[in-house]
Amino acid sequence: MDTAERPTVRFIAGRRMQCKDIPDEVLCDAVRRVPVPRGPGAVPWRMSWDVQAALEEVTGPVPDRLFLAKIRRLFAKGLLGGCDCGCRGDYHLTEECQNGTAGCGYCP
Ligand SMILES: [Zn+2]
Ligand SMILES: [Zn+2]
Repeated sequence: MDTAERPTVRFIAGRRMQCKDIPDEVLCDAVRRVPVPRGPGAVPWRMSWDVQAALEEVTGPVPDRLFLAKIRRLFAKGLLGGCDCGCRGDYHLTEECQNGTAGCGYCP
């Protein structure tokens, strides 16, 4: 992926796109749609770029910094777990953790 071609800002109706323009449930659904790894010991964690691509299928382009900001909001709300440093993410729904991946190190 060539990050130089990624938009850094997107305007909606004359103002910058913000976190509130992405409903929580739309982002959670994007996480759900990304296939999870299979196999012994596999955990249902998704790569950040796969989740962002799934989200953009619904919302159109989302600037990377806005995407991370929105991810952090869902971490804060306890809806998602994962890492927000800009790495591969390991995003997952906290409800998936409660179904057997307890102690993932991300979720409270
Ligand atoms: Zn990280
Ligand atoms: Zn977790």
